[in-house]
Amino acid sequence: MDVRWEEAGWERLTGRAGRRRLPVWDCTVGLVVGDESVLLIDPGSCVREGARVRAEAERLAGRRVTHIAFTHGHFDHVLGGSAFSGAEFYGAVGLDAHLASDREALRADAVRHGLAEAEATEAAELLPAPRHLVSGEWTLELGGVQVLLANVGPGHTRHDLAVFVPGGREVVFCGDLVEESGEPQAGPDAVPARWPAALDRLLALGGDDALYVPGHGAVVDAGFVRAQRATLAGRFGVSDA
Ligand SMILES: [Zn+2]
Repeated sequence: MDVRWEEAGWERLTGRAGRRRLPVWDCTVGLVVGDESVLLIDPGSCVREGARVRAEAERLAGRRVTHIAFTHGHFDHVLGGSAFSGAEFYGAVGLDAHLASDREALRADAVRHGLAEAEATEAAELLPAPRHLVSGEWTLELGGVQVLLANVGPGHTRHDLAVFVPGGREVVFCGDLVEESGEPQAGPDAVPARWPAALDRLLALGGDDALYVPGHGAVVDAGFVRAQRATLAGRFGVSDA
């Protein structure tokens, strides 16, 4: 336990990585602190929340947030990015076009889930499109730590990105490919037939000993991810042939 992180409402996972469960939608924001650069993963759901996350992360990291990674394009994971002009944005290939073409759908989805209309409109207007698009894998040098961004989807959506953080204890930020606090949500934009294979790629990244950080809920282990894979394969009727 790290008192400074805990007092700020954050959970420190390793020397370099931590996360916070944000209110209302229980969405996880991830933080990786390098010696030169700082990466945030899924930085909140609106400008106000993004700005708060930014202030907290910069206080804990002792430096500016320079990089933002989106695990996928759902409003609760991306709209806080609107508070990070000047940062470098990363997403799975195709996420840029998806966010550009479906900005109104993103805004409407946020409102449907309870975000105030004005906040949803403001965030959707200000949200930068990811300029760095990951197909396969992308190594990000943050100074003292090299983070791997991996396009592991499709599954939960067509643009699922995982973030692997090496270290004494490895950490995999899974986005909503893994959920602990409830059943994984498969909406109309999910690709159920390929979701189990995406979880195989997550497990290949992290191996048996990593901490797996779900998009929603408590940190889990490889056994949990394997069990969720089996459940989803059954639910979606995906054979292992
Ligand atoms: Zn989602």
